Amino acid sequence: MNSSGKLRIEIIAVGSELLTPYYQDTNSLYLTRRINELGMNISLKTIASDNLDDLIYCFKQAQQRSDLILTIGGLGPTLDDKTNEAVSASLNRKLIFKKEILHQIKNLFRKRNISMPSVNKKQAYIIEGAEILNNKKGTAPGLWVEFDSKIFILLPGPPVELKTMFEDQVLPRLLNLRQGYQSRLVLKIVGLTESKTESLITDLYPEENGLEMTILAYPGQIEIHLTGFSISSLKKAENRTLKLSRLIRDRLKEHVFSASGEKLEEVLGKLLSRDHSTLATAESCTGGLLGHRITNVPGSSDYFLQGVQVYSNTAKIKLLGISEALVETHGAVSQEVAEKMAERIREKAQSSYGLAITGIAGPGGGTKEKPVGLVYTSLAWKNGVKTDKNLFSGNREIIKFRSSQKALDMLRRFLIKRD
Ligand code: ATP
Ligand code: MG
Repeated sequence: MNSSGKLRIEIIAVGSELLTPYYQDTNSLYLTRRINELGMNISLKTIASDNLDDLIYCFKQAQQRSDLILTIGGLGPTLDDKTNEAVSASLNRKLIFKKEILHQIKNLFRKRNISMPSVNKKQAYIIEGAEILNNKKGTAPGLWVEFDSKIFILLPGPPVELKTMFEDQVLPRLLNLRQGYQSRLVLKIVGLTESKTESLITDLYPEENGLEMTILAYPGQIEIHLTGFSISSLKKAENRTLKLSRLIRDRLKEHVFSASGEKLEEVLGKLLSRDHSTLATAESCTGGLLGHRITNVPGSSDYFLQGVQVYSNTAKIKLLGISEALVETHGAVSQEVAEKMAERIREKAQSSYGLAITGIAGPGGGTKEKPVGLVYTSLAWKNGVKTDKNLFSGNREIIKFRSSQKALDMLRRFLIKRD
């Protein structure tokens, strides 16, 4: 227990590959989310190499300081899989051969029409006194090992094996240890900076226990994460986050585009479907990113008719019929050309709306008058056209993303104004 009477829980990810620059321990993120939902926090995370000495050292420390220790990986049949052996050594318990487990593993191989390699026999040795957690997706059994009122939970490394085992067999047992309920809600915001967002809601930062608010900034998007906690019920935890989210939405109004995890392109898709409207796009500097994001949404064929990438001046002239003189006089990155791109693609596709983007994504190509990050985004509709001049910061990829975000948002704002 820690000083506030909560269980001290830790995760140990086992695998030398996780200590190289090439692999990440993602399993612990999943475990953390599921454990947080039970009102429990993770106090420590460790990544340990496959080396037996390292593992024993690490497990011995863990068994001193923590009540619940979840290990990930190293349960397989190969020489580098040493978790079982290391836990048995650190607890000073024998490994006992279990015939029935060997049968199960043999059966699994039989089903795949191969005979069991002899190395797999190792997986039938189980720590004395441990309960077996069946592995429906692989050969390595997991283990639940109780000692001195504490618990070791040994889980396999492959993510599907770990998740299935955790959901089926670990979670039901952990419910008995539940220390409360957690609810999470994410508000997504576009069109405001992080500091502006913060200044609008700064007095709403919760002071009560059991409610947390965090503002996270991403390129082109701000997120407000709300976490509610209740000792007695999920409903109470949810009510806490909902109440605060309503107050925030009242302040930030149309800048909030989602409170249920949806992406901007999904929100826009719903609005277009609702109105039975259609859309076409003409893109220069984003090179198809806008169309890609729109068509990532299932069902987008209901409203997305076509998109063109008119990267060169010639393409703008030939494919969209924009006059050469216009491009020459104002330049391809200009309000005039952006406007024409949106109008022309709308006409050609005979869509309700046309969106266009032209700009300088960098790193080269900028001038004093037209610096890197200068992007015009245009929206055309039946009776008009509107163009925004933007100056985006960031590298090439970020400028492209911000540009597509802005174009999507122009149409979203246009559609919600008509509600
Ligand atoms: P196996 O029977 O497949 O050997 P195992 O329990 O021994 O299972 P490891 O050998 O440690 O698990 O890892 C197997 C694979 O699982 C790794 O190659 C990696 O792709 C994935 N993996 C292991 N640990 C993690 C982790 N912490 N996060 C994400 N993936 C992981
Ligand atoms: Mg392995």
